Order: sequence, then C-alpha cells, then structure tokens
Amino acid sequence: MNYTFKPSTGGRYLLSIANHQEITAVLAEFCRDQHIRSGVVGGIAAISEATFRFLDPATKQYVDKTFAEQMEVTCLTGNISQKDGEVYLHIHVTASRRDYSCIGGHLLNAKVNGACELYVADFLLDGVDRKFDPETGLNLYDFHE
Ligand code: FE
Repeated sequence: MNYTFKPSTGGRYLLSIANHQEITAVLAEFCRDQHIRSGVVGGIAAISEATFRFLDPATKQYVDKTFAEQMEVTCLTGNISQKDGEVYLHIHVTASRRDYSCIGGHLLNAKVNGACELYVADFLLDGVDRKFDPETGLNLYDFHE
C-alpha cells in the first residue's frame, strides 16, 4: 500500500504516504482513487531527494534541479485540478537542509524518507481545468460549467 488515509466530513482527508514512495505520484494516485477533481493539499514531510522546478519568465522554460539529501519539508502547499481528463497537481514546497537553511520551488517529485503527512480537501467541483497560456508559459486555471 502506497498510502493510508482517513476521510472526514465534506470531502476532507488526512493522508499518510508510505515511506520511500514518491509524493506527487502517490498523491495523484490517491486523487484518482477517490475521484477528487478539484481541491487543495497541504502538509509536511521528511524526504531524501527532491526535484524542484523554477520557471524562467524570460524563456518560459522550466529549469529543474535535483537535491539528493535528507530534508524536512517545512511547507507543502498546492492545488488539485484536471487537465485533459487527468489529475493535475500544482504543488510548491519549502524544505530545510541539515544546516537549517531552506530551499524550495515548484515540486516536480520528492521521495519520502520518514513520513509524509498531508491533508486534502476535495472541493467537490467539476469544471476546474487547466489550459496552457502562451503569454506566461503556464497551465492556468480554466474554470467552466
Ligand atoms: Fe508552480
């Protein structure tokens, strides 16, 4: 099992991602399993490796960087929507290193090494999609009926 969870009322969940799993992959799996199409996610974790992305506004290209070291995810925050009928996660993190300094960015992936404790709130809404915006180079929210 890649995760355990406990549902609360109104589409809210507590989610524990299993050790050594990849956070974004398991979170997407959980959203598919629970049919979550729109919402928000937040939480904390301990990780051994992570790849962060930085969008360069000048080139509109993502620059990815992998950090292979033990870190505390001091803040994970993001949202859940749909793109082309698939779960679309937009997550940012701040993580602290052994020397207590922090790094962060848009989260591409991260491997749990310890625990990953999240909350997920399903907004129970349809019509929360993503559409590529050429001006910014981002997949922006596309709300519709
Ligand atoms: Fe982002």
